[in-house]
Amino acid sequence: MVIAGFSPNSFVDYPQNIAAVIFLAGCNFDCWYCHNRDLIEGRFEEVSLDKVLEKIESRKGFLDGVVITGGEALLSPIDDLISLAKKIKDMGLLVKLDTNGTRPEKLKALIPYLDYVAMDIKAPLDKYSIVTPIKDDDIENIKKSIDILMNSDIDYEFRTTFDPHLTSDDIEKIAKTIKGAKAYNIQQINVPSHIDMKRYSTDYLNESAKRANKYVKTSVKNV
Ligand code: SF4
Repeated sequence: MVIAGFSPNSFVDYPQNIAAVIFLAGCNFDCWYCHNRDLIEGRFEEVSLDKVLEKIESRKGFLDGVVITGGEALLSPIDDLISLAKKIKDMGLLVKLDTNGTRPEKLKALIPYLDYVAMDIKAPLDKYSIVTPIKDDDIENIKKSIDILMNSDIDYEFRTTFDPHLTSDDIEKIAKTIKGAKAYNIQQINVPSHIDMKRYSTDYLNESAKRANKYVKTSVKNV
C-alpha cells in the first residue's frame, strides 16, 4: 500500500462528519476529468503510514472519522487495507471508503471494518467508455459491487459526477440500475482548466435528480 497524500481535516468528504483523508496511489481507470492525476501517474512524495497514523491519533479529538480514497483505494493489498481500517477504528474513529467498484472481492472483505462506502457509478453501465477506457470484466465487477453494497447492512451512497457527455436520460438509467439503494448523489463536475467544456446548470442537475428520485433517494452536490 502506497500513501500518496494525507489531508488532516475535511468537511466535505464524509457526509455529516469531519474527517482526515488518506489518498492511496494508483488507479485502474483514466477518467478524462480526473483531478487526481498526480496520484495515479506517480507524481507524489510517499507519506509514511506511521506518520499518518501519528497525525490522526494527535487530532482524534477533532475528527469523527477517516476517509480512505485514491486513486482507487482497493488496488492496495487487502491485508494492508484491513489493518489500516482496524487501526483507525481502534482510535474510536469512523472509516469511510471511496471506490470505483471494480474490486468486489476486496470490497466484500473490507466491509466488516468500514462504516460508510461511497461508490462511483460513472455512467450507465453500457456507456462507461464515454468517461474512461475499461477492461472486459470491469462492468461485471461494478455490478457485483452494487449487489454487495445493496445487500449489506453498511451505510453507503452511489454517486455520479455529471459529465456533460451524459444526459438526464442517462442519470435516470443509472437510478434504475440502483433502484431501492440507500442514497444516490449527483455531483456537479469540476471541469479541468485545460478542457473547454460547459457544465450543466444547477436547474438541469435538479431536474435530473427529480427523475432519478422515482427509483432511489437522490440528492445533488454542487461544487
Ligand atoms: S476513478 Fe477516480 S482517481 Fe481513478 S481516474 Fe477516475 S476520477 Fe481519477
